[in-house]
Amino acid sequence: MTNIHRLEERPKLVDLAAFGRAGYFQDKSIFANGKELLRSARFIEYDQDNFQLDVCDCGIVGCIPGGLVSLRRHNDCAIIVPAAHAILDGDEEATPPAFIYELGPIAFSPSVYATLRDMVPAFPEHSSLRYLSHSEVIVCNQLTAPGHFLGNIGMAPTIKTDLVLAVSDGELSKEIASLEIALGDRSQRQLPEHSRTPDRIVEFHLDLPGYPVWRGLGYRKEKPQLLIG
Ligand SMILES: [Zn+2]
Repeated sequence: MTNIHRLEERPKLVDLAAFGRAGYFQDKSIFANGKELLRSARFIEYDQDNFQLDVCDCGIVGCIPGGLVSLRRHNDCAIIVPAAHAILDGDEEATPPAFIYELGPIAFSPSVYATLRDMVPAFPEHSSLRYLSHSEVIVCNQLTAPGHFLGNIGMAPTIKTDLVLAVSDGELSKEIASLEIALGDRSQRQLPEHSRTPDRIVEFHLDLPGYPVWRGLGYRKEKPQLLIG
């Protein structure tokens, strides 16, 4: 997960001649942490299930394929995640934008989200955002876990146990078992759970180049839960 700390809008005049049409309109691109987050603040069609984050310069949603995301609530933050449910339904157009592949889910603190809403009027108030679903948290982790540690996006999660060298504390076999429980725990479908700070986070040290660490498992009151790793 990447926290966005800096948003910038860049106004632009779009000449539709580039798209074989006549006319001009004013729009603005939004940059987050210095990278282009979306090209058209004006033509985003927010939907509570999912929507295209990066609409083509011509202003037509879907003109460029893919780039679907969901906007969710996570603690006090708003978070943009892959459109997990569409991916799991086999929608081939539901691929996340390059921005999300690169940075993982992106989170906005309350003040940064307020700025984003000023820039993109289609985005709703934080209080009306849905909490993350269990499936969405799994897909986020499949996206970001090194070496596809939890399997590929859109597939049922699997744990590549042969990649685990060690865990931060506790026993390896016990933590793998807890991770299995957390992955399969449908009671987490309502997800304020994911928004609560865990009492303890487990680090999985993986046998991959650079020996990366995955931090997607935590405990709250001794109950294992998936985190946004
Ligand atoms: Zn277009």
